[in-house]
Amino acid sequence: MGHVDRHPWEPRYATRALRMQASEIRELLKLIEEPDVISFAGGIPDPTLFPIETVREAYRTALDDDAGAGRLLQYSVSEGDPALRDWIARHMAAKGIACDADNILVTSGSQQGLEFLGKLFLSPGDTALAMAPTYLGALQAFAANEPVYDELGLGPTNRTLDSYRDAAAATDGQVKFAYVVPDFANPTGITLDLPARLQLLATARDLEIPVIEDAAYTELRFEGEAAPPVQAMDVAARGTINQSRVIYCGTFSKVFMPGLRIGWICASHEIVQRLVLIKQASDLNSSALNQSVARHLAETCFDAQVARGRASYRVKRDRMLDALANHMPESVSWTVPQGGLFIWMTLPDHLDATDLLARAVAEARVAFVPGQAFFANGAGRNTLRLSYSLPDLERIDDGIARLARVMQAL
Ligand code: PMP
Repeated sequence: MGHVDRHPWEPRYATRALRMQASEIRELLKLIEEPDVISFAGGIPDPTLFPIETVREAYRTALDDDAGAGRLLQYSVSEGDPALRDWIARHMAAKGIACDADNILVTSGSQQGLEFLGKLFLSPGDTALAMAPTYLGALQAFAANEPVYDELGLGPTNRTLDSYRDAAAATDGQVKFAYVVPDFANPTGITLDLPARLQLLATARDLEIPVIEDAAYTELRFEGEAAPPVQAMDVAARGTINQSRVIYCGTFSKVFMPGLRIGWICASHEIVQRLVLIKQASDLNSSALNQSVARHLAETCFDAQVARGRASYRVKRDRMLDALANHMPESVSWTVPQGGLFIWMTLPDHLDATDLLARAVAEARVAFVPGQAFFANGAGRNTLRLSYSLPDLERIDDGIARLARVMQAL
């Protein structure tokens, strides 16, 4: 990493700010926005799927009469628009999570939900459990609270309770929560099976910690039967949402569009009440106008948008898997996601994906995200994340062929 001179303000910054570093990889990825680069780095939804005409109409209708517009352009309640919260509560109930609007907090994207949960649970030195690798944005959202990360071991990497407790005691903190992306995870594309979900809940019960279930990609399933949400399993075991230790983070970003910045937290009333205070202190409320548009979209085209996203991303995933099978050397392996936007690739141990990225961009005009970015402890040098969401089918084919040629040459 390039060394930067110490700024005279540095002694005045809080320790949390000094711990937040621009990632080397994000800096590298800024260089790849030229049009001739085929980028599998993005990981953002395909804008050609946005329901633009419906959105236009929804804003027009919302602002049509002066009284309504005056209300939607005003401050509003921190919990969120009651009608939107009702819709979300019904949506959650359909997933097996019986709840009402009191269990829902509207957030400015699920990213804000993650940030709030970090504020609610973590004091400096506390331990947050997360899979390694996991969503970089979650690690960043929690980082302001100066936590220590420890690896959540599920399935083959199963860990004992004492190993978690000992690790937390060694840093003078407590284990505070476990964070997971159970469906088509960012970055791996992997989905937790039923035994892993049960194991997660048992571990959380024994450690007496909440589970944060980040459901950002859950709707984008291409095939196979969905395992129930971790929260639904917990609600079934404990009787009601208000007894549940699982906190569900949902979002409209992947089904509609990220530009609304509307997501939600579904949790026990106790947790929601605590989070409302954090929301008040943070931004008072999410945009009433955008909440009203989100509700309009949810009521009129949620299922159609889900179907559209699934169909389109499925074809792109298939094309990328075919291209990988056709072009990649035998020494690399990759995951086969049942949904979502990501494939995770593992290179032979001696290869470094950051070096590979530099060569791939320079020599073949193709890009991806080196996997190391997604590990709290800097592991995973020989891994990388490929996203198929943005390029069209031909460029997916072409880009994978180009990447394979750079690898063959190594
Ligand atoms: N969780 C995961 C796993 C994500 O990949 C993302 C977006 N990249 C988010 C949460 C945040 O999305 P949003 O704030 O738009 O809901």
